[in-house]
Amino acid sequence: MTGRILVVEDNVLNLKLVRDVLTAWGYDVVAALTGESGVALAPECAPDLVLMDIQLPGIDGYEALRRLRALPAARQVPIVAVTAFAMRDDRDRVSRAGFDGYLTKPLDIHDLRAQVERFLEEGSADGR
Ligand code: MN
Repeated sequence: MTGRILVVEDNVLNLKLVRDVLTAWGYDVVAALTGESGVALAPECAPDLVLMDIQLPGIDGYEALRRLRALPAARQVPIVAVTAFAMRDDRDRVSRAGFDGYLTKPLDIHDLRAQVERFLEEGSADGR
């Protein structure tokens, strides 16, 4: 499967890991180090999927999600939250906020691949 994935991640080591893995799997990766730049890039790069870190400098992943959902180009794009908080409360909050999926750091590569493939195939639940 192919697709363009927008990765919003402020930690450059995590970003490199995700970018390298997704690129090796054949995906086209667009990277953003802040929520603001991810939102700004979305209309032009027209991603098929967004991986959104929650803890970011400036606006956080929740605010970036809200801003992306307000853009016609990103309204129906599946957005997966990525957070270091592997807490039950965070999973619930992420789900309530409208994220399509949830990944915890450190990333499990098999989980990453499963969610990427699933959401590229299915699209966003919000978009239907
Ligand atoms: Mn972060």
